[in-house]
Amino acid sequence: MPFDNALLKTIKDHLDLREVVEQELGQGQPAGQTVRWACPFHQGHNPTAFAVSKDRFYCWSCEASGDVIAWMIQRENLDFKTAVQQAAVMAGVDLGGPILPRLSRPDPRRPIRSARPLLHPPDLDWQRSSHFYVQKCQAYLWNEINQAALDYLRQRGLKDETIEQAQLGYDPGRQIITIPWYIKDELWRLGTKSLAEGGKAPLFAGFKQGLYNADRLTPEQPVLLLEGEFDALIVQQEVGDLVVAVATGGVTLGRQIKWVGRLIQMPQVLVAFDDDPAGDKAAGWWLKVLPHNAQRCRPLGAKDPNDMLIKAGLNLRQWLGEVPEAKPETKPEVGSLWQRLMGREKR
Ligand SMILES: [Zn+2]
Repeated sequence: MPFDNALLKTIKDHLDLREVVEQELGQGQPAGQTVRWACPFHQGHNPTAFAVSKDRFYCWSCEASGDVIAWMIQRENLDFKTAVQQAAVMAGVDLGGPILPRLSRPDPRRPIRSARPLLHPPDLDWQRSSHFYVQKCQAYLWNEINQAALDYLRQRGLKDETIEQAQLGYDPGRQIITIPWYIKDELWRLGTKSLAEGGKAPLFAGFKQGLYNADRLTPEQPVLLLEGEFDALIVQQEVGDLVVAVATGGVTLGRQIKWVGRLIQMPQVLVAFDDDPAGDKAAGWWLKVLPHNAQRCRPLGAKDPNDMLIKAGLNLRQWLGEVPEAKPETKPEVGSLWQRLMGREKR
């Protein structure tokens, strides 16, 4: 069966392989139209053996070469179909559903330095200083002087083991709970919750939008997509055997290509945003962007899973038991491009 060259060309035209590689290997050394790195395939030490142009990579030592699809298949361990799907998402190429958040078309004359900042974690200085702060706050939380803060977390239903694993902390000066967002050992964001009367949680500058708990994502389990970090922790703690709970950190957040691209690969995404108009509206965005695997999963009897458990005393296991089955693995009726992708699988 022939390739759908037009589709692949569209995807590749919209992507700059140098930026895709940079996401994984960090900043390289520009050399003419290429950017150079040490080769990730043969673990070479020559820092410039691996040359990447807008659409090809090539290693001068081991001769590994290919395009963006080959890169994703080999580096991310994806099958062909998933690699094309994910590349399409990164490229902002319409899969037949609504238009995905689109990245601007790369300009070959533009310096590589201005690569899409949202795909990267915060810079190392920020991560280091924040990591130090996170550790300090963690020590404060477990100091008996700050028993009230620990009690607050326990009253929200969090077990000590969960609190410890999530590396939650407390800043007694600011009276805030600190919630670090580590993803693959990189610190993307620092969430906060104010414990002061009528206090507003400060936002630390310099963070990047992430997907809380993204490290647990696996194709083996459905995903519960939530707004708040505490909701994700509670669900993970209580019914982590049934679902992977991730949080966007806000009703309209987490919409970056990187995170959409992760979720698109999951078997089922249950959008459990708060049971209110904002939650419904934002859930609608995800159902449009992930037409093949997303479903609305409304919290019952309370606005969010944390309240369901604590205020309403409801059983999260029972709630998830009533969630509709995953959509069957059939070709989704979402447009020709998507069907062409699915069709090519038989090749
Ligand atoms: Zn090599």
